Amino acid sequence: MKNLWDPAEASKCKSELELRVYSSRLLGRDDTLVLHGGGNTSVKVRERNAVGEEEEILYIKGSGWDLQTIEAAGFAPVRLAPLLKLARLEALPDPQMVNELATQVTRAGAPAPSVETILHAILPHKFVDHTHADAVLAITNTSDGEKRIREIYGDNVVIVPYVMPGFDLAKVCARQFEAEARPSTIGMVLLHHGIFSFGATAEESYGRMIELVDRAEKYLEQEKAWDLATPNAHGSEKPMRLEIAALRREVATAAGSPVILSSHSDGKFLAFSQSANVREVSQRGPATPDHILRTKRLPMLGRDVSAYAEAYREYFARNAAHAKEPETMLDPAPRVILDAELGVCCVGRSAKEAGIVRDLYWHTIDVISRAEALGGYRALSEKELFDFEYWDLEQAKLRHAGQPPIFTGEIALVTGAASGIGKACVEALLKRGAAVIGLDVSPGVATTAGPRQDYLGLTCDITSEEAVTAALESGVRAFGGVDILILNAGVFPASEPIAILQPNEWRRVFDVNLDANLTLMRECHPLLSLAPKGGRVVVMGSKNVAAPGPGAAAYSASKAALTQLARVAALEWGAAGIRVNTLHPNAVFDTGIWTEEVLEARARSYGLSVEAYKRNNVLNTEVRGIDVAELAAELCGPTFAKTTGAQIPIDGGNDRVI
Ligand code: ZN
Repeated sequence: MKNLWDPAEASKCKSELELRVYSSRLLGRDDTLVLHGGGNTSVKVRERNAVGEEEEILYIKGSGWDLQTIEAAGFAPVRLAPLLKLARLEALPDPQMVNELATQVTRAGAPAPSVETILHAILPHKFVDHTHADAVLAITNTSDGEKRIREIYGDNVVIVPYVMPGFDLAKVCARQFEAEARPSTIGMVLLHHGIFSFGATAEESYGRMIELVDRAEKYLEQEKAWDLATPNAHGSEKPMRLEIAALRREVATAAGSPVILSSHSDGKFLAFSQSANVREVSQRGPATPDHILRTKRLPMLGRDVSAYAEAYREYFARNAAHAKEPETMLDPAPRVILDAELGVCCVGRSAKEAGIVRDLYWHTIDVISRAEALGGYRALSEKELFDFEYWDLEQAKLRHAGQPPIFTGEIALVTGAASGIGKACVEALLKRGAAVIGLDVSPGVATTAGPRQDYLGLTCDITSEEAVTAALESGVRAFGGVDILILNAGVFPASEPIAILQPNEWRRVFDVNLDANLTLMRECHPLLSLAPKGGRVVVMGSKNVAAPGPGAAAYSASKAALTQLARVAALEWGAAGIRVNTLHPNAVFDTGIWTEEVLEARARSYGLSVEAYKRNNVLNTEVRGIDVAELAAELCGPTFAKTTGAQIPIDGGNDRVI
């Protein structure tokens, strides 16, 4: 554990709240301490209110904020005195507690205070820090965890047995703290949950967290349970994309909606999924209860999704029968899949969610392996975990969740994605919630959409069958399938009359505009057949199909052949629920090939200004890449659910076509 406190940085903080922000971010930077919204921090400050009275205010992390990126606005100011009165109640149902907390917040628009607010309030220290440190979990999640914690920390910490977070936990902590805290006490260990530290200053509280976790790490080292060698693991060399897509389809069916499924076969993940004891240790439960909301209680072993879903339904029925309130079952689909060939597969409604699952499980493997090295990993009981998974507060969140964007959980592949219409298609699909695989010969495709988890840009020459299958393999490993295919890449050669047309040029145009698309359609067909909502293909044709121009023989003929190919695909694939439609754009000038000079020259040859040339159509309107992309995206959506084999012009109206 490295103490990251920098006196120079800290001296720039102008208030206790700013110091709180600074040291919270230091905790957030270390993913062995907190992950994705886990953990929380607070500071107690004296403030004067609008009528001049002094009040003690507890600034506590608001829900929905992450310690790594938290700002002052991410802390909810709550009046301390009423919190201390609430803490003296014998019982308080959590939904009512949440209401009480909300009514004591002093800033309109502040985030909801953490459910651990009362716990922070009762600790008689100015600064309080709370993490779910991996090292502490590895030790507490063993059969003699409590004994080991006592051995490591003596009376430097108060030990609290596992209790559900919320009011009951605050009560138990208050009682333990009162009974056991000594002048030497600098923290509190919550078995199977995490660790608290506290102090008079931000630096002291943070420093104590680092010191306490460091002692846990040293203990693991001393017990030979820290540096664990990753055994060599060998994944499958054969293409896995169809198996992955079939698995994702089954998971989506169980989940009741499309999902992203990312496969990870890098060292630690593959080694864990192949380890001799994975069948036992992975089935004991999560490292800390709040992971359950992302990972579910148990990972799935192998690929039998219906057996997993059945076991989940039984788990729900078994435990819901004893719950205080009637519960609504969450979907029974797995979130973590351990497979000897695939490694670890992570499932989420979006690429971001699947990424969070990946990170949580990465750390879970460390906690499990270290606890095993200490003598045996132990998790909470099924009932305790059920109570957390079906906590009132989480069920309420579920009821209030809004409608996600239309392509949430779906995966689109766009060719020619580095610029022009292709780039605009990437943006239109991302905006609608899809994860997107972009292909282009230009390496710029890697950053078409900037660095973001739901976009994978791959340099790929689509005229190479080998390159296409390699790209599909990478894309499916990243997201789990291909549901939407946008065949956009194409070349528009310089004008060349038939009388002098060279066969090489003719072939080059057909290679890209026609043959490559045939390869892509053939290779994507089995993936599109597995799309949870049915596959969709949009083909970029051209106005030239209906209204060819002189000098554009190769272009017009290749696009006409492509259009015919799409029509046949619509006929052949309809029974599998795959829709194939064609757009015929014309005069889209905001693309790479149309430089200012080319535009001016072309406009002049028609005797028009550039502006007039751009609007030279029936509607007198300019057609932009984004207009084509929006229509392409909509063609894949519910509005066109019953349309296939269509050809739609997007050209502002062309008198030769009409
Ligand atoms: Zn916690």
